[in-house]
Amino acid sequence: MIKMLENIFNLWLYTVDSLQCKGFGELKKTQRSFNSTLRANKGLKPVSKKQAKRNGELAKIEPPIDGKCQNCHELPDWRGLAKHHKTKRSQGGQDSPDNIIWLCGKCHSLFHGIKEC
Ligand SMILES: [Zn+2]
Ligand SMILES: [Zn+2]
Repeated sequence: MIKMLENIFNLWLYTVDSLQCKGFGELKKTQRSFNSTLRANKGLKPVSKKQAKRNGELAKIEPPIDGKCQNCHELPDWRGLAKHHKTKRSQGGQDSPDNIIWLCGKCHSLFHGIKEC
């Protein structure tokens, strides 16, 4: 009877051990880092499917034809124009053209509360 309990206990230990099997976890980790290395080699940042879809939608939003900042109406410096969400995504803002404004580096910093010069 005690022998049987011991066997069950060993089996249980074995199961717990397999569930926490480090080998498998390590393998997955290696695979992940391999994937991101691949992406890094291509000059890409690792992105999720959701992020990829967002990027696709954002990419469809055309920059202003005159190439000027939509806030100060000046030509941008070396940083060029960047898309800025009028309503933050964290506040329910969408990746739609009416929620996107093209800003020069200076204005973009200002919009994010960073004061330059
Ligand atoms: Zn500007
Ligand atoms: Zn912004």
